[in-house]
Amino acid sequence: MIGKKVAYVKSQGQSRKHHCHWPGCEVQCPPAMWGCKSHWYRLPRDIRANIWAAYRPGQEINGTPNRSYVEAARAAQDWIKSQPKDLLGEIL
Ligand SMILES: [Zn+2]
Repeated sequence: MIGKKVAYVKSQGQSRKHHCHWPGCEVQCPPAMWGCKSHWYRLPRDIRANIWAAYRPGQEINGTPNRSYVEAARAAQDWIKSQPKDLLGEIL
């Protein structure tokens, strides 16, 4: 149930230092979240959907993201790297 996950993630606070996974972004965001709001929404919808689908509540606490989450997160990084440099400069 994605709605439950969304509610869980939204209820999580900044329990420890954790910054956005967008390269170069140092905005702090709750460990349950992938990144800051503006960068999260820069990701294509399907990549965000994959991250949501793979995310298991609590993985950020015990530090053991499952394989599909790791793959979804890597796909996000690959997508970012595949973007034209000038575009990245604009949105970094
Ligand atoms: Zn960010």
